[in-house]
Amino acid sequence: LACLETLGVNSLKQGDTFYSVLTGNTVALGEGDAFTAHSPIDGAQLSQFNNATPAQLDAVNAQLQEAFKVLRVIPAPRRGELVRRIGEEARKYKTELAEVIALEAGKIMPEALGEVQEWIDVCDFAVGQSRMLHGLSIVSERPGHRMMEQWHPLGPVAVITAFNFPMAVWAWNAMLGLVCGDPILLKPSEKAPLCALAMYQIAQNVIADMPDIPKAAVSVMIGGRDLGEAIAASEVFPLVSATGSTAMGKAVAQTVAKRLGRSLLELGGNNAMIVSPTADLDLALRAIVFAAAGTAGQRCTTLRRLIAHESVVDGLVERVAKAYGTLRIGNPLEEGKLVGPLIYEGSFNRMQAALEAAKAQGGEVVFGGERVTEGVPAGGFYVRPAIVRIAHDAPIVHEETFAPILYVLTYSDFEQALAIQNEVPQGLSSAVFTESMREAELFMSPAGSDCGIANVNIGTSGAEIGGAFGGEKETGGGRESGSDAWRNYMRRTTNTINYGGDLPLAQGIVFE
Ligand code: NAD
Repeated sequence: LACLETLGVNSLKQGDTFYSVLTGNTVALGEGDAFTAHSPIDGAQLSQFNNATPAQLDAVNAQLQEAFKVLRVIPAPRRGELVRRIGEEARKYKTELAEVIALEAGKIMPEALGEVQEWIDVCDFAVGQSRMLHGLSIVSERPGHRMMEQWHPLGPVAVITAFNFPMAVWAWNAMLGLVCGDPILLKPSEKAPLCALAMYQIAQNVIADMPDIPKAAVSVMIGGRDLGEAIAASEVFPLVSATGSTAMGKAVAQTVAKRLGRSLLELGGNNAMIVSPTADLDLALRAIVFAAAGTAGQRCTTLRRLIAHESVVDGLVERVAKAYGTLRIGNPLEEGKLVGPLIYEGSFNRMQAALEAAKAQGGEVVFGGERVTEGVPAGGFYVRPAIVRIAHDAPIVHEETFAPILYVLTYSDFEQALAIQNEVPQGLSSAVFTESMREAELFMSPAGSDCGIANVNIGTSGAEIGGAFGGEKETGGGRESGSDAWRNYMRRTTNTINYGGDLPLAQGIVFE
């Protein structure tokens, strides 16, 4: 594959097997079972690895700890320079990086390019942040004293990622973590290991020209769930950032909590859009189709529940179905395609099971849901995005099925719409389409959407890196990327300095 050759990823292997342990001066094969990763486009084998084992983690951890000692005292703006150059390198290879995403995750090229752009954007953001790692200065109640707080590097940070944003999620964590002074160990999804090697190579190209930066600042281990579990359990990581299913997050959170570490969780969503009778329906339609069918329904922010007012619901469903009928489904590497494949057969089976459950629970599939085999590469699992009309409280509607199924629910008054929006266990992204100021403000108010993201007149997906990204309840409560998310990667110290000649005690206590 030309993109792997250009990126230098093809040199990261021994024979046909890619390295699974990449840290500092060590690049090594995994010592566990062999596995192969396949492209969702046509099922073809893309790569072959041996799983890195939990036993191999010890050697990596030693290098991460050494790297931390060096990185934590390099001035933050210099760490910003590292990230600035990584951003430049990613710009240079943007197309090749996007091709690796398309091959491994099945994204159409415009979306894959958009994901690389997110990496580049978060580099720019992090470079600025590297000069703004501010603490407060605080007045003291004692004469001759002052107080201040400082933010210090935290330690090695582990980043466990999902298949569907194989570059952006690492970049959100790693670019900020690096300017904060933390070495980053990535454990990517076993479905997208080449993306991890490509990012590693981009970062190492830069580090090669910056001899003060320890190589292990950017490290990768490729392995399965047992490796993820060992990372979560390891005292070396004061912070474990994990993105994936809620089941995974619950396991990681418990393991990390047992040793009183911190976890930063970005888990499943069950995102809804309320369409009010006053809504601009042309705008809503565009937002619905992109948010529900884009990336073949495999975004954490994919629109899964459309909560439409009873006066507009029939016409809206008709228009969405018509738009779905024109979606070009097929090879994501071909220009003009809008919907690529599901990641693998398991996702297809889960989608079919969800559609069966929806029918058994009183739902009606009004469009799509079937496998598409004409005009698409054989061996891939392509589907026509589905529209299902169903009651808001059918149990299947409260689950996240990671495939393009849009459940259409109906409401009669706005309070009821809000209650429906909030009744699921997940709390990631939400949207309202309305021209009513009262509805818009109520939706964003404390009595409104309970999600981490609450949008007005734009869809649920496509967050900008400048905001803090994440969600509540079973989505895990983490916030990444913009705003003050950098604080996750640092520890705060409060300093009290006595510049007087006395030692007055706080609260005026006399102790003698
Ligand atoms: P997944 O949970 O199957 O895997 C995610 C990662 O966790 C992989 O690297 C996997 O090896 C690892 N893992 C699995 N079990 C583990 C355990 N017990 N301990 C430690 N690590 C473990 O998820 P997936 O199928 O790759 O991704 C889809 C899911 O990710 C969806 O639920 C989606 O909503 C979610 N997601 C959320 C966000 C967000 O920001 N909230 C972003 C992207 C994806």
